[in-house]
Amino acid sequence: MALPKQSDDFPGWYQAVVKQADLAEPSLARGTMVIKPYGFAIWEAIQRAFDERIKATGHENLYFPMFIPARLLEKEAEHVEGFAPEVAVVTHAGGEKLEEPLVVRPTSETIIWDAYSRWVQSYRDLPLLYNQWCNVVRWEMRPRVFLRTTEFLWQEGHTAHETAEEAIAESLRILREVYADAAEKVLAIPVRLGRKSAAERFPGAVETYAMEALMRDRKALQAGTSHYLGQNFAKAYGVQFQGRDGTLQHAYATSWGVSTRLVGGVIMAHGDDRGLRLPPALAPSQVVVVPIYRTPEERGGVLEACASLAAALRERGVRVKVDDRDEHRPGYKFNEWEMKGVPVRAEVGPRDVAAGVVQIARRDTGTKESCPATGAGERVSELLGSIQESLLREAAEFRDAHTFRPKDSKEMAGLLGDPGGFMIAGWCGSPACEATVKGDTKATIRYLPLDPEPIDGTCIVCGAQAMEEAAWAQAY
Ligand SMILES: [Zn+2]
Repeated sequence: MALPKQSDDFPGWYQAVVKQADLAEPSLARGTMVIKPYGFAIWEAIQRAFDERIKATGHENLYFPMFIPARLLEKEAEHVEGFAPEVAVVTHAGGEKLEEPLVVRPTSETIIWDAYSRWVQSYRDLPLLYNQWCNVVRWEMRPRVFLRTTEFLWQEGHTAHETAEEAIAESLRILREVYADAAEKVLAIPVRLGRKSAAERFPGAVETYAMEALMRDRKALQAGTSHYLGQNFAKAYGVQFQGRDGTLQHAYATSWGVSTRLVGGVIMAHGDDRGLRLPPALAPSQVVVVPIYRTPEERGGVLEACASLAAALRERGVRVKVDDRDEHRPGYKFNEWEMKGVPVRAEVGPRDVAAGVVQIARRDTGTKESCPATGAGERVSELLGSIQESLLREAAEFRDAHTFRPKDSKEMAGLLGDPGGFMIAGWCGSPACEATVKGDTKATIRYLPLDPEPIDGTCIVCGAQAMEEAAWAQAY
């Protein structure tokens, strides 16, 4: 079935790719999804990329329960207010009304900091550097598969520190060394890093840092956030320790997360009118080998050549699949693997076997070449590296070509309508100006500079002295 063109109907294109690449489907409870094996394999590769980096920076994984007593959530006022509209509450269980309702975790700061109050006594117990992989539930009014689902999978890191400086350094380290590194090197998604405005901040955070990416419909995607929580949670949950000077002090907190929404990010950052384009580092199969034959006599020789190509690739650590299904013609297989975004396709027919060559096609550019069978392993490995780099470069060029510096609010509104993208403009710091832009154009401040410097300019909305430059965009 043909996909809608991205330029005609991006949301329709997205939905069709999710379905036709067999990634996921909506499930029965509103806003929930079934992640199918191919989609889950992509998620597992994303998970590995982040988990490796989380551990390499000194963190350990653990696991907390999904049910949180409602009273626990109520201790941090801003936090409970922020999440109240989204939480699901269990009031009945075991055939009875519960004495105390249980919240299904929307995030786990509350239950984790309640435990930290028992785990932390002295500065010697710090820092705590923990992470968990789990599901969370946030009641979603406008669900979209992978991007906004009522239940989603994620990792949430929760760390406790002796000083504010250490906690701030931790949240920035996660942003740069874990999140941005995995996004760019593995997902091939270029990201911009920054701070959130107060309106976009995590409920209960002092500062929220984020990585933001631009999708091919020129809307921004918040791809991951890292929060500096100050002492808010330590005070609400009584996490105190004896400091080096003997006094009792509250610990400083961070929390940070990335989720299955990144699968949606990969689809929308790289996909084209023929379907998914997966970065090789992420692709469940990096190469598909398609045998081409008409007669049973041709079949044996062709399959043998395919098997030896696959063996040569596996020896190099390449993930390869030989599609030897007899019930489908090669053209059908080509379309299917293109839809699923497999980075390289190798074709072997009787004439190739006779000539000792293999036909190789790149999914990202569509270019084809003929290559001696003996050197095919090396050539394909080379191509995989070059596809990985070129997807990142293409996405970065696309983003940079859609980053504008409008001179006034009228020009900004025009550019946000067409073609869309990031608008870099002065901001006075007032929530009212931010709300005006949102009301007029649906654009929000996606990020503010990590290290704000005073600028010589005016607010694009009210014309007052600007505090800093903000990047505005319409976003998922
Ligand atoms: Zn202003």
